[in-house]
Amino acid sequence: MNQYQVILDQIYKDIQPHLNKGKVADYIPELADVPVAQFAMALVDLQGNVFSCGAAGQRFSLQSISKVFTLTLALKGLGQQLWHRVGREPSGSAFNSLVHLEYEKGKPRNPFINAGALVVTDVVLDLLPSAQAPVLELLRSLSGNAALGINQAVASSEESHGFRNASLANFLKSFGRLSHPVDTVLSAYYQDCAIEINAIELAKTGYFLANQGVPFGAQGPFISANRAKYINSLMLTCGTYDSVGDFAYRVGLPGKSGVGGGILAVMPGEFSVCVWSPGLDQSGNSLAGTQALEWLTTRTGISIF
Ligand code: GLN
Repeated sequence: MNQYQVILDQIYKDIQPHLNKGKVADYIPELADVPVAQFAMALVDLQGNVFSCGAAGQRFSLQSISKVFTLTLALKGLGQQLWHRVGREPSGSAFNSLVHLEYEKGKPRNPFINAGALVVTDVVLDLLPSAQAPVLELLRSLSGNAALGINQAVASSEESHGFRNASLANFLKSFGRLSHPVDTVLSAYYQDCAIEINAIELAKTGYFLANQGVPFGAQGPFISANRAKYINSLMLTCGTYDSVGDFAYRVGLPGKSGVGGGILAVMPGEFSVCVWSPGLDQSGNSLAGTQALEWLTTRTGISIF
């Protein structure tokens, strides 16, 4: 059996005692009822082989992992101009924090905190004016699954409880940082966060970041190798919020988490991997997911370091 499959099977056994430890994201009421003791992991190597363990066919809420794909579209459409609108530095604070915005005149620190993602969503709405969920089509094509959809109950649950995101968007608007109406930007952002995907589909979706911009099953690049490098660098430095140093130390891969419990990580030149377990740590990153990725890089001896 392939060594990746052997290692994934072992991780699945070892992770069991860790599955009850985290806390689901109950600030989005619709996510509060997701049973915590669930786990899936899927790895796609650059030859296109898929390895998995656990509930790898079970769809979950993409949440902030969508920010990787919003950024991909914005960078593709706007190139380096994007960096006039949003920064490239870790924030050192929570994903939904407001603290830096006033000092920094509404320019968010990076595209992966909520403030930054709202600005990047605004950019993408210029590029795709009629899109309700700007990244959905991209995810369908990158994963090779046209059936991917949105959980509207999750989107409207967030819409009616997203007071912090509404504050961030209004604050950004007051600094002239959003060109579309606040509600339009928030709605597009919530739709993208509420996309449902499974571990195998997400590992395939992220494959282009491991493969110099060329998607799973495609002949040519979707973005240049250099832009894939930029996105990976931002995942490494900003993808797991105020735990980004700890994540880099333990896992040693660029990764992006979401409060649905998913983490997408890539080893450029080797593989794309997705792990899902809904119990979160204090920063909003999957607790068992981070542990599983640490074991993956330790046991394979493969990481970017
Ligand atoms: N939709 C969530 C929010 O805006 C996404 C946060 C996350 O996954 N870190 O709060």
